[in-house]
Amino acid sequence: MPTTTWHDRAAELRMDGRAFIDGERVDARTEARFDCISPIDGRKLAEVARCDALDVDAAVSSARAAFEDRRWAGKAPAERKRILIRFADLMLANRDELALLETLDMGKPIRYSRSVDVQLAQNCIRWYGEAIDKLYDQVAPTSDASLALITREPVGVVAAIIPWNYPMLMAAWKIGPALAAGNSLVLKPSEKAPLSALRLAELALEAGVPPGVFNVVPGFGNEAGSALGLHMDVDCIAFTGSTRVGKQIVQMAGQSNLKRAWTELGGKSANIVCADCPDLDAAVSAAIGSIYFNQGESCNAPSRLFVEASIKDAFLDKALAMLPQFAPGDPLDEATVMGAIVDPIQMKTVLGYIEAGKEEGARLLAGGAAARVESGGLYIEPTLFDGVDATMRIAREEIFGPVLSVLSFTDLDDAVRQANATPYGLAAAVWTADISKAVRTARALRAGTVHVNQYDNDDITVPFGGYKQSGNGRDKSLHAFDKYTELKTTWIQV
Ligand code: NAD
Repeated sequence: MPTTTWHDRAAELRMDGRAFIDGERVDARTEARFDCISPIDGRKLAEVARCDALDVDAAVSSARAAFEDRRWAGKAPAERKRILIRFADLMLANRDELALLETLDMGKPIRYSRSVDVQLAQNCIRWYGEAIDKLYDQVAPTSDASLALITREPVGVVAAIIPWNYPMLMAAWKIGPALAAGNSLVLKPSEKAPLSALRLAELALEAGVPPGVFNVVPGFGNEAGSALGLHMDVDCIAFTGSTRVGKQIVQMAGQSNLKRAWTELGGKSANIVCADCPDLDAAVSAAIGSIYFNQGESCNAPSRLFVEASIKDAFLDKALAMLPQFAPGDPLDEATVMGAIVDPIQMKTVLGYIEAGKEEGARLLAGGAAARVESGGLYIEPTLFDGVDATMRIAREEIFGPVLSVLSFTDLDDAVRQANATPYGLAAAVWTADISKAVRTARALRAGTVHVNQYDNDDITVPFGGYKQSGNGRDKSLHAFDKYTELKTTWIQV
């Protein structure tokens, strides 16, 4: 679609920032609101309900009532499936609107919000809908004198707290398995990008998800978020966000009702390219494409690149030649591959890391500054540092922006040691033509996802989550049901 048409549609788009509780749009009880500002051009998009503990109470009560009267959990799995598939169909039917909301709200290019975010999010809801009537419970091999059934039951009221970098997709990763398993849900989107989650709740209701089963409470972390974390009537909290807040969530669960606390947290992923890499062009393209995708605001972005010294110059020449493709552009132009940074706070953080890299002696080979300032929006050039060593902040801390740190190595074992020398353990990669070396390295890398001769492959069928301080849960795949179900053993005297 021409860029002007996307702009026209953006100007006409209905944006409703009210909360969604018990099947209805409502203001916060105090009527407090906050402004939702687009990072594309600084335009105010909507006023959003600033939910607090009272609103969270209302949403949790509504979810509890829906769970207890079994209006959703009591439906046959085939019926929940039918409704979830209709929900996914409605997402596709409203694809342009959802994509626009996502792009305007958090700044990512429309080409990706349409073809990646909406597409993967609807596929996730559909996949869990499709799966739920194909799962069987178990009978334990005990004795003739008894029958022991092992059944999965929904946990009850699930609270989900999500970040802003993939607002719709992170919502779908929680909504899909939590609702398919029969739970009721209270979702708190990020205050930085709440609009698509609110619209999803309307579509779910339209598809037939009963009122009260899926509630959305927009607001701030230290208000709506902590109210959910501390709530005595929430059975499970599924959190995606930073490691710093993840630790607080686990503490809140411990100091309240010991709700199940699942965390999907930050990363500082290592991408190791050996001199015998089978396809250098592919390695360069994956390294560059994956760090700058989503403006570098991806938890699994391969932000530490270890290149074997003998091929580093060739690698960097090819990498630098690719960078102009990633120049930030108008996110509503379908040709744009890098959009805006979500908000001024994140902008300042990323530029601060760039300054720290320069001060600590890394060599800035490209980028390093704000871009498109005249647009009124928030953009940063794709930035590449060479000569980074493991002690520098840009090599140790999650930047969450379009900044790549290049380190080199001569000894693969040492590169693996450095790759693992981080509190994080979300993703990693190794590039080599030697299959034994690939397998040995993949085994040695302490990360929830390891890629060999590729980066950023993705499928709903595989689990996604972290080792170490990247979290304790797994989203996606059938394994995600472990988060949202309890195992019950029923002994029957025979
Ligand atoms: P964040 O931790 O600042 O916020 C995440 C969510 O938690 C937001 O909804 C926020 O309002 C809420 N929150 C903040 N303080 C809270 C508190 N005291 N109590 C309860 N809730 C609170 O993270 P962010 O900046 O939104 O997202 C970026 C982070 O998310 C990065 O670290 C990134 O790596 C991580 N992330 C991880 C995954 C994954 O699957 N592992 C996926 C996407 C993003």
